[in-house]
Amino acid sequence: MVGCLTVLSAQTVRQAVHLAPNGKGWGVERKVSVEAGASTNKPAATNGIIYHGGPVMRANSVNVYFIWYGNWTNGPTPSDRQHTVSLLDILFAPTRGIGSSSYFKINTTYSDTVGHPTGNIGLVASTTNNYSRGKKLADSDVQAIVSSAISSRALPKDANGLYFVLTASDVAETSGFCTKYCGWHTSGLIGGTDIKYAFVGNSDRCPSSCEMQTVSPNGNSGADGMASIMAHEAAEAVSDPDLNAWYDSAGNENEDKCAWKFGPVTGVLGHGAYNQTFGTYNWLIQMNWENSRGGGCDKTLGGKFYTQ
Ligand SMILES: [Zn+2]
Repeated sequence: MVGCLTVLSAQTVRQAVHLAPNGKGWGVERKVSVEAGASTNKPAATNGIIYHGGPVMRANSVNVYFIWYGNWTNGPTPSDRQHTVSLLDILFAPTRGIGSSSYFKINTTYSDTVGHPTGNIGLVASTTNNYSRGKKLADSDVQAIVSSAISSRALPKDANGLYFVLTASDVAETSGFCTKYCGWHTSGLIGGTDIKYAFVGNSDRCPSSCEMQTVSPNGNSGADGMASIMAHEAAEAVSDPDLNAWYDSAGNENEDKCAWKFGPVTGVLGHGAYNQTFGTYNWLIQMNWENSRGGGCDKTLGGKFYTQ
């Protein structure tokens, strides 16, 4: 679905006919009426995914902002928590992370009426939030956390930005984190600007739902689990920022079509296996759907397609 990554154990996609992504990894029925027999104007799905007319993120580089919500620096295992922050900073570092990878260039295959994304993305700034909305967040709290970071000027207001709300493992997201999804993305009007944002919780809260392996390439199951989910939401935000651009007839956005599929890995799954190397770091990151050559899941732009 658009913007949402379903949990490992529940990759159910509802079988409705007209679906739109809801940012949470499962399809919802569109709230627009579709006339019977209106098939002449149906967009073609040459590569297994359909353009619905909305914009993609075409900025020269998409600016990533992290909002670390809750306790990421203190507590029973401070070094482990700080390590998580460092690793995810590295994953989104502009020159040695996902932003300079051929993996993220897969998103260049998603054009809107003006052009296509560059495939460049990088972390610009981060801030923290000390449980201002408590430990049980509703979706509206997530938007409020982003809004507060912008209105307080902790982070700039950036229409070319993607704001991640990253919650500590003692925080619940009550619309279904760990049971229905591991992360989601959407957009909303904040201070008069269309702001793209995503929720990703610490996957250590529910390893069996949101982590492919607990022995992970960088020795930090939370960071390594979140890495794949953040990659998923980032690619969907770029190709379908407002949930009205690229998704298939079941409401699946590009990364939804490859959820929990990694292709060939180095090592053994469950024992620190990885399938991507960015800079000097290894990661296990799900594949993305390439919108060319008939469509398929691959690890790099123009690479071999894999079904698992
Ligand atoms: Zn998704």
